[in-house]
Amino acid sequence: MIKNMLSGIDVAEFRIWMGWADRYVILTHMGPDGDAIGSSLALCRYLKSKGKEAVVIVPDSAPDFLTWLPGADEIRVFSDAPEANEELVYKADVLCCLDFNVVGRIGKVAASFLYSKAKKFLLDHHPFPGANYTVTLSHPEASSTSELVFHLICALGDFNQMDKEMAQCIYTGIMTDTGALSYNSNNSNLFQVVSHLLDKGVDKDEIYRLVYNNYSESRLRLQGFVLNNKMQVFPEKSTSLITLTDKELHKFKYKKGDTEGFVNMPLQINGVLMSAFFREDKEAGVIKLSFRSVGTVPCNRFSSDFFNGGGHQNAAGGEFRGTLEEAVEVFQKGLEEWSHSQEDCIRQLFKK
Ligand code: 5GP
Ligand code: MN
Repeated sequence: MIKNMLSGIDVAEFRIWMGWADRYVILTHMGPDGDAIGSSLALCRYLKSKGKEAVVIVPDSAPDFLTWLPGADEIRVFSDAPEANEELVYKADVLCCLDFNVVGRIGKVAASFLYSKAKKFLLDHHPFPGANYTVTLSHPEASSTSELVFHLICALGDFNQMDKEMAQCIYTGIMTDTGALSYNSNNSNLFQVVSHLLDKGVDKDEIYRLVYNNYSESRLRLQGFVLNNKMQVFPEKSTSLITLTDKELHKFKYKKGDTEGFVNMPLQINGVLMSAFFREDKEAGVIKLSFRSVGTVPCNRFSSDFFNGGGHQNAAGGEFRGTLEEAVEVFQKGLEEWSHSQEDCIRQLFKK
């Protein structure tokens, strides 16, 4: 029997709001990924099906491989119409915060979020939620926020109201946050959720193709360049590092989302337990950092200890203000510092 991660008590307040609240704004994190967009579009469609006014506002646009999702064409990018979007956030009855824990993750939307008098509802699977929410449903054990949206709709008694389009959005979020059910998904309950989504008409093979086999030629060549020329492996530290400059990205006609998944590739090497990927983002004026790790190696600790970043134990990120060279220096020093650690979860990286 499928077990709901959310109890009736968890959703009681949201249920009461749904009795009177008409206007909902759904917010998600910067650099929205499949889970951010999938969970937001599923919840938005569900709220609309209940006769509510609902919009999704994102700090920046979603990558092209997500634009086929039902409802994606109605997503509002905050900076495209800052005043109108700010007004929507202020005038909302409920702000639904999906797939992020702290307000810093919503970038330019944070100020309007903080000033808004709306009820604030957090539904998320990142550890360490912030304190800015009226109701906080934080479940780090969930595969994805999309899985939590499935449970929310069921806990509200509306499984029957979930249509194929909602199910497609939810499946996309589950798929992209688990590498197509290859990690963070060793859980029979999740497979039961997936089974219900298939019953709703989801074609999981088609979704896989739309998300993962939909690249430009130059993106695939960039991947080849990265593996051949840019991947550094440090066997004695069980780690690897990939860096990409703005110039290199331009050479391969970089589009948002093109480097998605690069950070995972070095983990295919026997003995690599932590992988880092640093990308120069000239437009934002930062170096975007991604970390991935295996098993009990806490890459979110590495990100927070040395870069003020965060995330999950095996998938974390952050931003660095400075040059790419400086970021690499901090990375090397961080590894050096960690090599003196006595903690088992960290010591396993260092062959001594
Ligand atoms: P990605 O590498 O896919 O961009 O991010 C992986 C995970 O790292 C995200 O799910 C999120 O939890 C976390 N993350 C990414 N970027 C940041 C950031 O700038 N700050 C913090 N605190 N966490 C981040
Ligand atoms: Mn997620």
